[in-house]
Amino acid sequence: MSTQHLSHRLKLLEGKPPGQLLIHEIYRSVQGESTYAGLPCVFVRLAVCDARCVWCDTPHAFNQGDIWNPADVVERVLQFRCPLVEITGGEPLLQPEVLPLMTDLSDRRLQVLLETSGMHSLANVDRRVHIIMDLKCPDSGECSRNDWSNLDVLKPTDEIKFVIASRSDFDWAADTIRHYNLEQRFQVLLSPVFDRVTPRQLADWLLDSGLHVRMQLQLHKYIWDPKARGV
Ligand code: SF4
Repeated sequence: MSTQHLSHRLKLLEGKPPGQLLIHEIYRSVQGESTYAGLPCVFVRLAVCDARCVWCDTPHAFNQGDIWNPADVVERVLQFRCPLVEITGGEPLLQPEVLPLMTDLSDRRLQVLLETSGMHSLANVDRRVHIIMDLKCPDSGECSRNDWSNLDVLKPTDEIKFVIASRSDFDWAADTIRHYNLEQRFQVLLSPVFDRVTPRQLADWLLDSGLHVRMQLQLHKYIWDPKARGV
């Protein structure tokens, strides 16, 4: 990503009033990924990301958002009467106001999921939040920015997701899983990049590897148009 593009995006956050959130969209859909796949879920998508994974499927969240008061976000989420809510982005942890938001939602007995790039510290995330953290593979272009210290913060119930764009990405993921003993420590997900690796390829690689981790498909892309937004 060029420095110019990144600073333009981050400026959006600099212009945000303190204590408020810059939100791209709030909507209800079916959870398409993770061990919660298939369940109705409210998505709170925060604007702006400081990464630029080459296969990113949410670039529309990079530059657009509205200012929301956190109390209004909670009220909007509650209106859906859905017990599951995912905080996603963009990169949600770029906005520190998301930390008390997740605590507030947890206090209201909602199961909160956090989807994050794995490039920012998870140390201050409420322990009730179920974290789904990426470890970026080399073909994403962002592998050098993985924050490995997060492996000491994640709970055994949290999930680590590898998005696989090639055979070499798979080999890197398999080496990383073995090196850090991730299979025994966390829930591990392997997800193919929609138009780069077929489900059959990933299934064959997984079975050949001997790893006992979970392959997942992005369910929402099979239900709705894979290019559609807000699903
Ligand atoms: S971290 Fe997520 S939102 Fe940001 S560029 Fe990568 S895939 Fe897109």
